[in-house]
Amino acid sequence: MRITRITAYQVDLPLHEGSYKWSGGKSVTVFDSTVVGVETDEGLTGWGEVCPLGPAYLAAYASGVRAGLAELAPHIIGENPLELAKLNHRMDAVMKGHPYVKSGIDIACWDILGQAAGQPVCTLLGGRYGEDFILYRAISQDSPEAMAHSVASYRAEGYRRFQLKVGGDANTDIERIRAVRGVLQPDDRLVADANTGWTLHEAMRVIRGVRDIDVYIEQPCATYDECLSVRRHTDHPFVLDEIVEGIETLVRGAADSAMDVVNIKISKFGGLTKARQARDLCASLGIAMTIEDSWGGDVVTAAIAHLAHSTPPEFLFTSTDFNSYVTRTIATGAPRRVNGRMAAPTTPGLGVKPIMEALGSPVLDISR
Ligand code: MG
Repeated sequence: MRITRITAYQVDLPLHEGSYKWSGGKSVTVFDSTVVGVETDEGLTGWGEVCPLGPAYLAAYASGVRAGLAELAPHIIGENPLELAKLNHRMDAVMKGHPYVKSGIDIACWDILGQAAGQPVCTLLGGRYGEDFILYRAISQDSPEAMAHSVASYRAEGYRRFQLKVGGDANTDIERIRAVRGVLQPDDRLVADANTGWTLHEAMRVIRGVRDIDVYIEQPCATYDECLSVRRHTDHPFVLDEIVEGIETLVRGAADSAMDVVNIKISKFGGLTKARQARDLCASLGIAMTIEDSWGGDVVTAAIAHLAHSTPPEFLFTSTDFNSYVTRTIATGAPRRVNGRMAAPTTPGLGVKPIMEALGSPVLDISR
């Protein structure tokens, strides 16, 4: 089987809440997502999606996905989409870095592999654990009262795990954490995600200020060494996210006992192939994971669901249903949240079919 055509579509994904705010005054109102189609000479077409969290979160930006694909795609035409490791080797040989550019092609080729095998992607990623898996809800940064109100209303929808966007003024962040914990039950899990927003001394003030609270601390500061310093001064469960850039960080973090949980974002690793490698390594090391991506619509949500559902539940701390945050449906067959939980599709491949009218005309179309 050979890849004969690669297309990309730009879609806007507005948010139900109007905007999503996190540390440093950063926010997004409409997500700019890229849906990638990979066609083959045997009639199968696979789909992928890449959606950076704006240009200021990771070293990734939406139009960079398309610019990168224009550069990369001609080198991938003619490759076998079923040979995922070899395909990734080829992508890395012809384009250094830029893992997020490669993610959409890799996801689409997993979709093709699943269709060719007649199996859902989660089976090919290791197997489906249980009927469904647990989700978290990200709570946009706001006043302590507003965030507590938001958590209470999402809890009423079935969520039991919450990730607060803190990383602002230390005193306000302490109030945010206290106010939200006050509306939760003992079995609920609360994560305070500073998104690199605290300096070392502010992080130290916050962890002391919430010492009696059951809360996880996520990515307090900008660098690995700063986070490790905070980690060594706290007994709160500790999560690393932004600075986890690949296998090397995971190996170093495991050796330093730098975290209890890591966030595996598919596009940051370069697709399902490499995110699966990271997932399996973390499970072997006893490190729990949030399996997700930077953002996205129905196609990304399906890819997340297949990776999350094939993760041993004791190591799956949480996952994400991004398609419930956005107002537009771009594919049929995508998984949907039920009571704060979700399940990967059971049909072959990713199990999603893009709604072509929602995608519009391709912004990139490369074939041979
Ligand atoms: Mg995070």
